[in-house]
Amino acid sequence: PYEVLVVGGGPAGASAAIYAARKGIRTGIVAERFGGQVLDTMSIENFISVKQTEGPKFAASLEEHVKEYNIDVMNLQRAKRLEKKDYIEIELENGAVVKGKTVILSTGARWRNVGVPGEAEFKNKGVAYCPHCDGPLFAGKDVAVIGGGNSGVEAAIDLANIVNHVTVLEYNSELKADSVLQDRLRSLPNVTVVTNAQTQEITGTDKVNGISYVERETGDVKHVELSGVFVQIGLVPNTDWLGDTVERNKFGEIVIDQRGATSVPGVFAAGDCTNSPYKQIIISMGSGATASLSAFDYLIRSEVP
Ligand code: FAD
Repeated sequence: PYEVLVVGGGPAGASAAIYAARKGIRTGIVAERFGGQVLDTMSIENFISVKQTEGPKFAASLEEHVKEYNIDVMNLQRAKRLEKKDYIEIELENGAVVKGKTVILSTGARWRNVGVPGEAEFKNKGVAYCPHCDGPLFAGKDVAVIGGGNSGVEAAIDLANIVNHVTVLEYNSELKADSVLQDRLRSLPNVTVVTNAQTQEITGTDKVNGISYVERETGDVKHVELSGVFVQIGLVPNTDWLGDTVERNKFGEIVIDQRGATSVPGVFAAGDCTNSPYKQIIISMGSGATASLSAFDYLIRSEVP
């Protein structure tokens, strides 16, 4: 068995694996797609100490750093089941079983798409998912936020500070966000809230130039000219495959303590697949390091041969 078996090859998993390998213990990573979400990112400007980089370049440096160490990388392999026996067993989609004395889950998350025309086409060309990441790219411009839950309203409040104007589009007849956030939102002079709005299309030529929505009460189609659309209808953790083996919260996020430990002894978790707040590269890497050091601590105290 591996002493530390990492499942997931994004920033959290890469960090966890490097921290483990640096302890001189047998380390492996299983990843469906090494690099993770950063592969889909254009510009990264908030990874502190690197002023600016691109996602694929960042993913390549992650891989290069991992390859500096004696780490078995099992790329393009998807985990489908976890079971704790003498060791912790991870069954892969191809039927193979990989074992670890400890396992670090770092399978990340994905943004829920609205699935309208223009969304995929203009991704990174005006369609964005992360206000902390891409908000400053729209300084002084007009944007829309799709989604009136907590994340949508938080995004709108955040963006209102940076951009010229924010239109919030909510499908239902009222916003779902906490009332304190709604009060804050409605106090802002440069925000328009539209409820009962079904997004129909994100329009543009080479980049976004507007958004069309159906007014659900009247059936009329409205169009707003703007430069950016933030889709904020949920971040889904890649944890379904775990079933009931490891405790997850109502959002499906793996519940961890401050050391990255899950409900199963020897199983740790890090990054966007967990209930830790704020899903960012720098945060997921920090939590990968935490989970790895905790796994090492567990190993030196455990009786597993
Ligand atoms: P992920 O990056 O999601 O990696 C998960 C890994 O697990 C992948 O390798 C995946 O293939 C693998 N995996 C999933 N399921 C399985 C399975 N069953 N078996 C095996 N492997 C599996 N953050 C910033 O800090 N700055 C930015 O500018 C920024 N911009 C972003 C732009 C976009 C478009 C997106 C989508 C995200 C952006 N983020 C940004 C967020 C950042 O990418 C994430 O917070 C970060 O990648 C989380 O790292 P992670 O390792 O936890 O998960």
